[in-house]
Amino acid sequence: MKVLNLRCAGDHAFEGWFASEDDFNAQAASSAIACPLCGSTEISRLPSAPRLNVSRQGPPPAETGQGMQMTLQSQWMRVVRQVMNSTEDVGDRFAEEARRIHYGEVEERGIRGRASSEDAEALREEGIEVVALPLPDALKGSIQ
Ligand SMILES: [Zn+2]
Repeated sequence: MKVLNLRCAGDHAFEGWFASEDDFNAQAASSAIACPLCGSTEISRLPSAPRLNVSRQGPPPAETGQGMQMTLQSQWMRVVRQVMNSTEDVGDRFAEEARRIHYGEVEERGIRGRASSEDAEALREEGIEVVALPLPDALKGSIQ
């Protein structure tokens, strides 16, 4: 007994049971096989399942783009972590500390913290470099 995957002209897939491949060929040649759904006798044989290669060779472009974004995000996370490891969190005293460092009142060091846009603007006018660092959501919890 042989089970063959068949498809009719109307694109209905179904299985046909035959004594042998010769039996199938003979029945197909005499239009003896009809689609169980629409009765079409225009039947084509599909390759058996194991020969159907449905595995994709590599991800499609959309997923590649997402992967790129993930890579960029992880690189960004690494930069942010480096900044966080090499700076002192001064929180709301950021503007004050930035000034003290700038005017040599305290030892020069990297700091990070919160500053309003007015504070940041005032610091820039005094010649103090302020870098806005948007933090990824994943890290926000750890800087509190
Ligand atoms: Zn059909």
